[in-house]
Amino acid sequence: MWLRLRSATEQKKMSNKKQFETEAIRTQIERTQFLEHSSPLYLTSSFVFEDAEDMRASFAEEKDRNIYSRYSNPNSSEFIDKVCKMEGAENGFAFASGMAAVYGTFAALLESGDHIVSCKSIFGSTHTLFTQFFPKWNITTSYFNINDLDTVEELITNKTKIIYAESPTNPGVDVLDLEILGNLAKKHNLIFIIDNCFASPYLQQPIKFGAHLVIHSGTKLMDGQGRVLAGITVGNNDLIDKIYRFSRITGPALSPFNAWVLSKSLETLALRVDRHCANALQLATYLEGHPKIAWVKYPFLKSHPKYEIAKKQMKAGGCVVAFEVKGGLEAGRKFFDTVKMLSLSANLGDSRSIVTHPASTTHSKLTMEERQSVGISDGTVRISVGLEHIDDIIADIDQALD
Ligand SMILES: *Cc1c(COP(=O)(O)O)cnc(C)c1O
Repeated sequence: MWLRLRSATEQKKMSNKKQFETEAIRTQIERTQFLEHSSPLYLTSSFVFEDAEDMRASFAEEKDRNIYSRYSNPNSSEFIDKVCKMEGAENGFAFASGMAAVYGTFAALLESGDHIVSCKSIFGSTHTLFTQFFPKWNITTSYFNINDLDTVEELITNKTKIIYAESPTNPGVDVLDLEILGNLAKKHNLIFIIDNCFASPYLQQPIKFGAHLVIHSGTKLMDGQGRVLAGITVGNNDLIDKIYRFSRITGPALSPFNAWVLSKSLETLALRVDRHCANALQLATYLEGHPKIAWVKYPFLKSHPKYEIAKKQMKAGGCVVAFEVKGGLEAGRKFFDTVKMLSLSANLGDSRSIVTHPASTTHSKLTMEERQSVGISDGTVRISVGLEHIDDIIADIDQALD
């Protein structure tokens, strides 16, 4: 069992890696003396020492072992280990939420005076963190538009430390060429970080395209059943070590219970995401031919402006479809009031299909101009396509559009 740093033998084992689905199921913490089949839940805040010398050596980090669950816990380690294998990462740290992972990662790596170059189309809370809170510590951000990757280089200064993006984006499901950003980061010696939440590690592994760190909100597709909040950052060992040292002091650690839930959820990630994607593609195709729909966006629709890039870097299109009902905001509101089965909620990646109105919910903190510049019109509807039978999902949307 490894805790924070993989031993040489663990790294060797990684080299004869099994398939994604197998690793997701068979990666497991060591069995206890009871020989349980499924991993037990380690609800314990601390761990005991054999004697005074063991205690001293553990705190001196001469031993890689559990001390206190704010630092590490067997359930978190199992969850981290699985995600590392899925993403092809060296190491990771698990957080209590996706935003704790975003905040903890940036706070651990940045100093006063540092600069971030970020895509403008990012998760609403991340945008607020960059624009309203980081300036308090003299950390500034410059933004590039999704379609202007050739202008990213102009934003880089001698203070720039991080390039940051999400792909596909929320809620516009735009796609960014990760390879271009990865090459730029390499050329300018910057840390390249991707929030991979919309794709999940099953559909896209940004480390292959040069990302040093990958962030996930485990709350979304990873749990996939809308039960727990979680976040995780995985990637380069040295960077994760900095994040670990900052986080074990500041205390955003994931609860062992949530880690245990997630670790089980990951066993079915591939199965679930395959069905999410099949349902989403079918729905997107249906909406594209519907007379009451102004436009539809889904990465694996041929009409998506970045279809070729999506095909290059993703296995399938993900669970989110964006569209607008003809008639703008008013027609959109009516749609939300007439759907019967679909949930009106803010989550995504859930087994239940969910519709959201980004302009009045997740992205309401942005100004109207900011929203327009990231492609969120007042009538944009975001649907996270769930695992119900596709005929029932389409039937509900159909009656609402009628
Ligand atoms: C939900 C989400 C987050 C934040 O995750 P929480 O678990 O809700 O804190 C970050 N990034 C993206 C892309 C998300 O969708």
